Amino acid sequence: MRKYSVFAVAREALRGHTGWEKQWTSPEPKKEYDVIIIGGGGHGLGAAFYLAKEHGITNVAVIEKGWLGGGNTGRNTTIIRSNYLYEESMDIYEHSLKMWENLSQELNYNVMYSPRGVMMLSHTVHDKQTFMRHVHANRLYGIDNEWLTPEQAKDYCPPLDIAASARYPINGAALQRRGGTARHDAVAWGYARAATDRGVHVIQNTEVTGIRRGPDGAVIGVETTRGFIGAKKIGVSASGHNTAIMSMADVRVPLHSNPLQALVSEPMKPIFPCVVMSNTVHAYISQSDKGELVIGAGTDQYVSYSQTGGLQIITHTLDAICEIFPIFRRVKMMRQWGGITDNTPDRSAIQSKTPVKGLYVNCGWGTGGFKATPGSAHLFAHLIARDEPHKLAAGLTLDRFRSGRLVDEAAAAAVAH
Ligand SMILES: Cc1cc2nc3c(=O)[nH]c(=O)nc-3n(C[C@H](O)[C@H](O)[C@H](O)COP(=O)(O)OP(=O)(O)OC[C@H]3O[C@@H](n4cnc5c(N)ncnc54)[C@H](O)[C@@H]3O)c2cc1C
Repeated sequence: MRKYSVFAVAREALRGHTGWEKQWTSPEPKKEYDVIIIGGGGHGLGAAFYLAKEHGITNVAVIEKGWLGGGNTGRNTTIIRSNYLYEESMDIYEHSLKMWENLSQELNYNVMYSPRGVMMLSHTVHDKQTFMRHVHANRLYGIDNEWLTPEQAKDYCPPLDIAASARYPINGAALQRRGGTARHDAVAWGYARAATDRGVHVIQNTEVTGIRRGPDGAVIGVETTRGFIGAKKIGVSASGHNTAIMSMADVRVPLHSNPLQALVSEPMKPIFPCVVMSNTVHAYISQSDKGELVIGAGTDQYVSYSQTGGLQIITHTLDAICEIFPIFRRVKMMRQWGGITDNTPDRSAIQSKTPVKGLYVNCGWGTGGFKATPGSAHLFAHLIARDEPHKLAAGLTLDRFRSGRLVDEAAAAAVAH
């Protein structure tokens, strides 16, 4: 067990922190690790944890240029669900959803997973056909998803306006009851603590600036702002920055980086019981345990590394939220921010070996990778340890961009949160 001074714990509790993440000091890097993971988000920290726990590989370092969870892990709207259309997606997201159910116990850290149900609104005939297709495909595959009439949708989420005269009329909804939310930064802290308890080094404030390769072309380590650190294998999981990092080893990955925004309201008493998404108008909403409405937008369409995003995107989102939930029209917004998502041409993730020996990549989770965190981390650890993809992630390798056998979840879902 880690030891804290009583005063430090009290001080951090008053600030609203658990104290653990604030008192972290990164260890001095060793000369060489068996595995270096680049990126201290949930996926990278989780992969380090599963390398240690399931594969007995503990000589591992996670190198993070900022602070733990300061990337998209701590910036997202925390929607968790597994009702995707294609088998490649259902496999990994359902694997992940099952892991969420037990994650707090596994990490001995409360990640506040809350299966309050995720409801996807249908506004048009096309929406209805698409969602019914999802419902049938999911149920045939053993994943829960059900169709609700507008009245049933309102029963499940009373603030919803189902009037036929509404600006965005609702003709039904798809509901995954096991879907929900979790506390995003707790996921990073939980994995970091559990990994370091097993001997993993988590090295913050250290940017990877290069990947060094040996005479046979295989990786031998990384250049960082704290000097060279040796590694037999390198796993890259640096959402939004993966193209830049992979280019350090002369590997091109089919990704582009776009901002994605979210915002929260002033805190209110519990009023919103579930998660609601509207893919057609690109708005989604839930209420955090602190009482804030958590609202997310569609992707900014331009390529950028900005962690803010364009004003017109969120004003459109707020317009849509106020149309669908008129009850919130006078609520004040408190904070807005953006994250950098990395997006593939088919909007499905990549988890793959690369042409460079010892270099592995986990990327392209775009707007929907938070829900994948435990499953993705678990399968990425398998890939790195065994040098072959796990069967649940076998459809997500880089080969599909050569063969043209794309997963194409984007075309199926229109939005991928
Ligand atoms: C506004 C928003 C809303 C979202 N909503 C949802 C949602 O509701 N549900 C959902 O499932 N997903 C959602 N997502 C997507 C989700 O947040 C991400 O897919 C997921 O968190 C990615 O996790 P990660 O660990 O791969 O990346 P990150 O948490 O971004 O971690 C990558 C880390 O790599 C570090 N890094 C980068 N370059 C370097 C370098 N050179 N050296 C060292 N470290 C480096 C970064 O600092 C960062 O901390 C949303 C994203 C955003 C931005």
